[in-house]
Amino acid sequence: MQREQAKQELAGWLLKELDEQSRRERIAFWFFCGFSEADPQLAALPPALRIAVMRGVEPDDTADPCLDPLVHVSLVEDLYGVTNTYLVQALNQRGIAVAQIEGNPEPMFACPCCGYFSLSSSASYEICSVCFWEDDGVRDEHTVSGPNQATLATARQNLAEFGACDLASVDRVDRQARERYRAPEAPVD
Ligand SMILES: [Zn+2]
Repeated sequence: MQREQAKQELAGWLLKELDEQSRRERIAFWFFCGFSEADPQLAALPPALRIAVMRGVEPDDTADPCLDPLVHVSLVEDLYGVTNTYLVQALNQRGIAVAQIEGNPEPMFACPCCGYFSLSSSASYEICSVCFWEDDGVRDEHTVSGPNQATLATARQNLAEFGACDLASVDRVDRQARERYRAPEAPVD
């Protein structure tokens, strides 16, 4: 199966599995932030939905199935950079027999704290979903990172102790993120 098709199919399943609150948050995000007019994802939406998003008027009923394409777009985006191994496993778990994915994962950068390839860019204040470190470009272990208010040495110690770069982020890390991204020592798939 082609990687793009695998992402689309898995997103279709995730859409059905999504809880009400996550669905509402994703829809609210689109209506709040909108799309850039040049965004190809916008052009792919049904016309009525495209107009509604451009107007930015948030719908009252977020359970309305006509909003599904919008949620689907955000779920496909979440699969950016995930390993092909993860796609195979996730599809197999849902009864779709896939042995191999054709096409390489999008290029990802290693998080300076946990080492997982979880970042779509480097040193651009992206937050790692595995450990919640914000990558401000600090690489020296003993330099205090402004946004993280800690050194990498401390953050790594915290990660080993309680599974996040600091205590405040324990509930915010995505527990499944480790399955999605390439581990520090894992080969490219
Ligand atoms: Zn990390």
